[in-house]
Amino acid sequence: MCGIVGYLGSKNAYPIILEGLKRLEYRGYDSAGICLYNGNKLISNKSKGKISKLEKRISKLKTFHGNIGIGHTRWATHGEPNDKNSHPHSSNSNDIHIVHNGIIENYSAVKEELINKGFHFHSETDTEVLVNLIEYIQIKENVKLGEAVQLALNQVIGAYSIAAIDIKKPDEIVVARLGSPLCIGVGKDEYFIGSDATPFLDYTKKAIYLKDGEMAIIRNHKPTQYRKIADDSFTNPTVEKLEIDLAKIQKKGFDHFMLKEIFEQPSAVIDTLRGRLRLKKGIIKMSGIDDFIDKFLSTNKITIVACGTSWHAGLIAEYMFEKIAKISVEVEYASEFRYRNPVIDKSDIVIAISQSGETADTLAAIKLAKKQGAFVYGICNVVGSTISREADAGSYTHAGPEIGVASTKAFITQITILFLIAVKLGKSRGVLSSKQFREYIYELNSIKKKITKVLSSNDKIKKIAAKIKNATNCLYLGRGYNFPVALEGALKLKEISYIHAEGYPAAEMKHGPIALIDKNMPSIIIATNKLYYDKILSNVQEIKSRKGKIIAVVFEGDKEISKIADYTIEVPETIPALTPFVTTIPLQLLSYHIAVKLGRNVDQPRNLAKSVTVE
Ligand code: GLU
Repeated sequence: MCGIVGYLGSKNAYPIILEGLKRLEYRGYDSAGICLYNGNKLISNKSKGKISKLEKRISKLKTFHGNIGIGHTRWATHGEPNDKNSHPHSSNSNDIHIVHNGIIENYSAVKEELINKGFHFHSETDTEVLVNLIEYIQIKENVKLGEAVQLALNQVIGAYSIAAIDIKKPDEIVVARLGSPLCIGVGKDEYFIGSDATPFLDYTKKAIYLKDGEMAIIRNHKPTQYRKIADDSFTNPTVEKLEIDLAKIQKKGFDHFMLKEIFEQPSAVIDTLRGRLRLKKGIIKMSGIDDFIDKFLSTNKITIVACGTSWHAGLIAEYMFEKIAKISVEVEYASEFRYRNPVIDKSDIVIAISQSGETADTLAAIKLAKKQGAFVYGICNVVGSTISREADAGSYTHAGPEIGVASTKAFITQITILFLIAVKLGKSRGVLSSKQFREYIYELNSIKKKITKVLSSNDKIKKIAAKIKNATNCLYLGRGYNFPVALEGALKLKEISYIHAEGYPAAEMKHGPIALIDKNMPSIIIATNKLYYDKILSNVQEIKSRKGKIIAVVFEGDKEISKIADYTIEVPETIPALTPFVTTIPLQLLSYHIAVKLGRNVDQPRNLAKSVTVE
């Protein structure tokens, strides 16, 4: 996690870095820091807490015209979030300064060696070890910053993206990446660094995304040198034209990014479907599938690897793929899959789902799957992300930037892609008749309207949130397609309100969770299944008999469950495979309003960060 920003040029670096950090704050907000140099004087300031706190503390920097600088917003891995563990970290001589995203796994052994050589440390971070290793090598080998960084990175194990400056070379920034993202904005005689491109969108639309294992020595008025970290070979990366719309990363009148993103879901689904769902022609066009259709037709098993909310999308896909395309599906936590000696071979297809496309465990899982010969399909939101590059083929969700840490529109667009794949394969594998295929795609085409209708219940959901906000535990129950929805609803509540919540398949309630039910424990029951309505109804009765409070998500016109539930949220009826589209959204809104009422920081909940680039 962590956000990295840097600048090299003739402008005042301070406002560029500060505003850049604000745009990256979704990546981490334990602490923040900025280091600026003007060729003569160096100023470094950092503090625990949000960027706004740092900003107040360093307001006098506004007048300091440093034309080179680096900044960092931290998600702590090594050492608690406090001032001294904040980045940038400096070498013992105070010449070299770095910001780092990732983990240096062998930092402890390296630290010991450096201590034996007379180095001393002020923080508990792995990053401070790295900057001193760079300094040690620089002195020992008598090399410039670029060489020293390269030699040091070849001695460490782990994941990183870094930006380093050396006051002995005031016109140079060295950057490198392995496992964490980093891009360079190319302006006219100026360069910008960012963990993503958002920090420099106001200044340039030209960007170079460093590849894994690549580094760059960026110099003012001289060509940048791109090389592989592992050897001395030069690389020649392409400059990409950024299409990101700045307005899309602003709140547009909403109180929080999360609420804005919840309300963007109807249009996000349309963006995902654009060019793919071709109703008139009666086809689904997805080049990632079309180009490799033989693989999809011959495989007997699809394994989905993902983490967090994306894993829930994978679980929904398991129901979709098995029902609609009759393909056996396994859904794995990427972090478990990669360490479990999975039985995967070249006939397998592995689908990796990740909003950021940088999730460290998911990335490692697909590397393992590729090594074993599997065909890897990536489903990512961030264009150009590492997973999208590593995969053999894939689909972007095109949800637009998601800033709120709790994922909402990314999830809905992931299940949109997964549904498209299921239906497309169902047809190609001869499981669906043309008539069934058309029914599926027509219903999908109407989902935008239905999602919009769900959003109109916002005020009602807000009132329900007020009634249950003081609960300390909540149970989420659903069957079939609504079981992963229950898991996702519980996760959303935990993430942003810090209320403990558990999701369960409704029938499992009797095997344990029912013991928790009393008048203080609300149960959120997703009860839109027509097929086993009576079974869900019985579950509702069982909770009611134990005085549990019930919030039921039901189809419009529901009679039975609505009579028993304390509160009901009606959603428009759709086919089973599309119910997660209409049942997930009320749960997002419920969590949102509970968190707001409890005064939580909805967009930046404690201990979390948006993209998990550490393992
Ligand atoms: N390991 C570094 C630290 O703890 C960077 C953490 C990160 O990238 O999240 O400060």
